[in-house]
Amino acid sequence: MGLKVAKFGGSSVADALQIKKIKNILDEDDAIKYVVVSAPGKRFDGDSKVTDLLYLCKTHIEHKLPYEQIFQVIYDRFMAVDANLSAEINLKKEFDEIKANLEAGASADYIASRGEYLNAQMIASYLGYDFVDAAAMIKFDEKGRFMEDLTNTVIEKELAKHEKAVVPGFYGSKIDGSVKTFSRGGSDITGALIARAVKADVYENWTDVSGFLMADPRIVKNPKPISTISYRELRELSYMGASVLHEDAIYPARVANIPINIRNTNKPEDPGTMITAEPGRQQDGRIISGIAGSKDFTVIAISKNGLSYERGFIRKLAGILEDNGVAIEHMPSGIDTVSVVLENEAIDGKLDEITEEIKRQLKPDHMETFENMALIATVGSGMSARVGVSAQLFTALADAKINIRMIDQGSSEMNIIVGVENKDFEKAIKAIYGAFVA
Ligand code: ASP
Repeated sequence: MGLKVAKFGGSSVADALQIKKIKNILDEDDAIKYVVVSAPGKRFDGDSKVTDLLYLCKTHIEHKLPYEQIFQVIYDRFMAVDANLSAEINLKKEFDEIKANLEAGASADYIASRGEYLNAQMIASYLGYDFVDAAAMIKFDEKGRFMEDLTNTVIEKELAKHEKAVVPGFYGSKIDGSVKTFSRGGSDITGALIARAVKADVYENWTDVSGFLMADPRIVKNPKPISTISYRELRELSYMGASVLHEDAIYPARVANIPINIRNTNKPEDPGTMITAEPGRQQDGRIISGIAGSKDFTVIAISKNGLSYERGFIRKLAGILEDNGVAIEHMPSGIDTVSVVLENEAIDGKLDEITEEIKRQLKPDHMETFENMALIATVGSGMSARVGVSAQLFTALADAKINIRMIDQGSSEMNIIVGVENKDFEKAIKAIYGAFVA
């Protein structure tokens, strides 16, 4: 039957109605043994997340401003859910304690973590599962650095004592017992850590969308969902700006080879996206998994006869950029040419200095700078095995009358990156999507 860990994000636990949906999901699938929950998130557009309200209480206190009203809003939200679920948790007592700690100068991490803490207790009671506090399992050292091995051992040992349990996401504790949170959105990490420690067969990450889409829906109308994608492909897409899971959240599941299934709490019948170690095969034999990109890069294209024989050329070029504190995003090269792709933000105000230094040290025959470029990655592990993929891509862009300024194909042959002008960005994504998917 297998063992599953399910993490439910803020919108999936935002109110009693959502929590009842979770119960249905869990009732349907006995393989889900451990559940990780976020704090209540937004119930509608413009609503506040409980975590944001908790941080707000802390900043009000720090500035000696009255915080009671905000605190009351949080209290009322929990009370309303509790009344609906008739969970057995003494919220009044919990809130009194949090308030006392808040006034006694408790840390922002402690305050922020209370959303998850209370929610997990309430949901555990409603479901009839055990509540296991993350503070007892997720460990940080005295400097606040995450302790991976210790955490893994402690979770494994602790959860073995519970047949079914709810664990709050987002936080753990330092060796001295004080609460320490992950970065925002950190419940995803908690879920992955638990999945790894209990050796889950699948880590389900329940949210409010039915998985990832092949392209940004603000650019492509109704893009198709991605049914399966490998960790590596996903990394290429997220590097290029697709808003998918954060690498930290994927890492624990990836190292343990546990597939992550992104699911929709509001549409549990949808299969969602499966993220696996091995490249997946897309439905309808599609060869690409997704398209992502971002704007605002600068390309410096350098050519010099005999460049490939000149020793230290690339090292010097990289050195000039390093001296200016600029990271190289990509470096496509030919026999006598090399280009560097840099983020506009990183070179802000330094471009002239960089190009002057390149002229002085490297004496190129020719150098051209293209500002305001956009990069678009077409990602898919199926691409390497197919002839003519790049031709198809370039034809699609040519037909749309888009000038390609740069091409870079990763050595894994899992992606092709093209550089186009910012103004052609949306048009180019539509053209690529049209050629491969639509
Ligand atoms: N509640 C936390 C946040 O809003 C963590 C999470 O939901 O993953 O960032």
